[in-house]
Amino acid sequence: MTEQSAESIGAGTRPLRIAIVGAGPAGIYAADALMKSDAEVSIDLYERMPAPFGLIRYGVAPDHPRIKGIITALHKVLDKPQVRLLGNIDYGVDITLPDLQRFYDAVIFSTGANADRALEIAGIDLDGSYGAADFVSWYDGHPDVPREWPLEAEKVAVLGVGNVALDVARVLAKTGDELLPTEIPPNVYEGLRGNKAREVHVFGRRGPAQAKFTPLELRELDHSPTIEVIVDPADIDYDEGSEAARRHSKQVDMICNTLEQWAIRDVGARPHKLFLHFFESPAEIVGDGDGKVVGLRTERTQLDGTGNCKGTGEFTDWDIQAVYRAVGYLSQNIPSLPFDEQAGTVPNEAGRVLVDEDADGAARYMPGTYVTGWIKRGPVGLIGHTKGDANETIACLLDDAATFAPAQSPELDAVTAFLQDKGVPFTTWAGWYRLDAHERSLGEPQGRERVKVVEREDMLRASEPDKVPNS
Ligand SMILES: Cc1cc2nc3c(=O)[nH]c(=O)nc-3n(C[C@H](O)[C@H](O)[C@H](O)COP(=O)(O)OP(=O)(O)OC[C@H]3O[C@@H](n4cnc5c(N)ncnc54)[C@H](O)[C@@H]3O)c2cc1C
Repeated sequence: MTEQSAESIGAGTRPLRIAIVGAGPAGIYAADALMKSDAEVSIDLYERMPAPFGLIRYGVAPDHPRIKGIITALHKVLDKPQVRLLGNIDYGVDITLPDLQRFYDAVIFSTGANADRALEIAGIDLDGSYGAADFVSWYDGHPDVPREWPLEAEKVAVLGVGNVALDVARVLAKTGDELLPTEIPPNVYEGLRGNKAREVHVFGRRGPAQAKFTPLELRELDHSPTIEVIVDPADIDYDEGSEAARRHSKQVDMICNTLEQWAIRDVGARPHKLFLHFFESPAEIVGDGDGKVVGLRTERTQLDGTGNCKGTGEFTDWDIQAVYRAVGYLSQNIPSLPFDEQAGTVPNEAGRVLVDEDADGAARYMPGTYVTGWIKRGPVGLIGHTKGDANETIACLLDDAATFAPAQSPELDAVTAFLQDKGVPFTTWAGWYRLDAHERSLGEPQGRERVKVVEREDMLRASEPDKVPNS
């Protein structure tokens, strides 16, 4: 941005006050982009959970320590003096948009996604039919889901062929002991130790060239000493559209190569079988008289030449006792903001929240209100992609800064006094240091990097000075 516009920001004599709602990667990268700009900024980062880092903490699988390690880089951003973390604050409940507009010159929403996209097939509400997001929240120790997860099924289906489907399938197929060195909390270890799953069947509606996994995640399936990955040679099929996709994308080609190799090798003796099925479209989850899942019916599909598929009318019944749908995450709508229910995003242009168009078709934006990350462009893409999102949103915000209605109460302690008056027990960055140290101390005797604290109350206690939970 130009020097002239930097000087004219806000009231001109004080730093630009910005609230960011959602301390996942998108929100933290937005704070970073703001601090790296020419503008003088003072940022408060609001987070619903007592701890920051969003889906890195509550989505990324526990056996992906390298990805969880991105937290180290994000930590450095939150260490900067221009940014404050205000955790355990639920926007829409503890604080509203008019409140934020009183304390800040601009507000950025980076609330991500935490629910499962619906799958409209018969039997989806049966006992034993689960959303992947709920299971992920359970194994990642999210405080707001039940502590126990039913793992009685010996044969399990996972619907979907993206990375989340692979995470769910891998965690279901691994043993509890394989996952013990990770940060999983004790209740999750106990649950996984009792897991009866011996066969995990992953189903994709289309073919290998249309799968949404990334090559690294796919190949990783084969690294577990307990998991035998099995691909039926009949499921390796390509049409012109698929061949074109392979030519245009190295990633697609790598995935196809890996699946081809797995399809022609002999099946080994590892105890847990993980089948990757293609060209099988889920048609119905079958229940018994008590409403429990006892099977899955799929319809065989075939390629139509363009990379799309059509049904063949040939059905297969699979002996399955639990079904996990991993067909995508979905964002929740944000109070006081417009929301596109179908896309699951806040309508926006390059991060500016879009209200509607005027009579001449020109976009009308919500003043001083922005979005970034998954709530901006939908729940797809890796953590790294949220950095580009943030840069684009912050460029718009800085271009608009001269037009902001200045906050009425921009002082740092005005908003904290407001929260204290309301009795909101918020956590801080210093509190995260304490919780982090506590989790590491729980892991240390077992040679583990950390053991996650699950209960919200325990997280809050561990975040307070000189108070740790009795565990
Ligand atoms: C199961 C799963 C596994 C994944 N694994 C990988 C992986 O291995 N590698 C990879 O690169 N990417 C992975 N991703 C993708 C990655 O997690 C996302 O790209 C990234 O987290 C999106 O960032 P975000 O900040 O937009 O959203 P989020 O990470 O969802 O962060 C949003 C934050 O906003 C907070 N929030 C929401 N509502 C409110 C509110 N009302 N008030 C206050 N705070 C609120 C949430 O608590 C959360 O902390 C995975 C995603 C999932 C779902």
